[in-house]
This record gives sequence, structure tokens and C-alpha cells, in this order.
Amino acid sequence: MKGNYQFRINTGFLVNASVGEYREFDIAAPSLKVDEDILFTEIQTVVRVSRVQQGILVSLKASANIDLDCVRCLEPFAGRVSCTFDDLYAFHMRQNSDADNFLPENAVIDLEPLLKEYLVLELPINPICSADCKGLCPECGANLNIDACEHQVKDEA
Ligand SMILES: [Zn+2]
Ligand SMILES: [Zn+2]
Repeated sequence: MKGNYQFRINTGFLVNASVGEYREFDIAAPSLKVDEDILFTEIQTVVRVSRVQQGILVSLKASANIDLDCVRCLEPFAGRVSCTFDDLYAFHMRQNSDADNFLPENAVIDLEPLLKEYLVLELPINPICSADCKGLCPECGANLNIDACEHQVKDEA
């Protein structure tokens, strides 16, 4: 979706505020597309922007749904991932010259790229639909969550 600025926060009101002042926002979004394979849905975030000595500190907590494929039974299932991160946007001042990020001139911070990045880091490498997923029978490929095949009955005996 183009023109979607929901994760842009104008922190201009904090620039001249005293150190320690902050504001919290609950930002929800129906979906966030990373690429053709990764689409997060039902994203919920709590964003705190704080005025600190060096600039603006953004603290973000987020969770989102993601469709995953179970590595054991190969069935798709809905997973939920969550992440938290802090990011400092420094003022352009000499003592901040080694900062990683600078607050843009207009004081608008776009959290979307970071949010995507951190959510992607939380994607499980080996997603499992449930801790007791029985997986597929190695002999006939039956999904053992749905029914037990003859091979399994033999194994258990
Ligand atoms: Zn499974
Ligand atoms: Zn079998």
C-alpha cells in the first residue's frame, strides 16, 4: 500500500522539550509487506519516543502474525512473532559525530524499515506448528497429526 505513513512519527514536539520527556503511541497496522514471501499481518506496536541528551530515543515493542510452514508436517499455520528495540536518533551536534542515526531535519522518523528488519530477525528458522506436532510418516508421508498410519502403529508396539 502506497502512501502509508502510519509508522512515521513526527518527533518535532520533543526537540525542544526537556530531557526525560516522552510520549507513547499505540500503532496498529493490518499488514506490512517485506517481500513476495514475507507478509506480516495484524501488527501491533507500542512506540515510545523520548527526549534524551543526545537526541530522540525510540523504543518499540511490536508483534505480528505471519503465515509459516511447519518443518515437521509441512502444513501452513499462523505464527506470531514479537520484537523490541531501541534506536537513538542523534541531533546534528559535534559531540554526536559518531552516532549511527541522525534525526532528520523535519524530525520525522520512519519506523517501518526498522520494524520490518527486526520482525524478520524474529522469524523462526525451523517453524513448528505446535510443540507436539507429530510430523509426517517417513515411509508413507501421512500427516500423523491427522491420522496414524500402519507404520506408526508398528513402531509403537
Ligand atoms: Zn506441524
Ligand atoms: Zn506411514
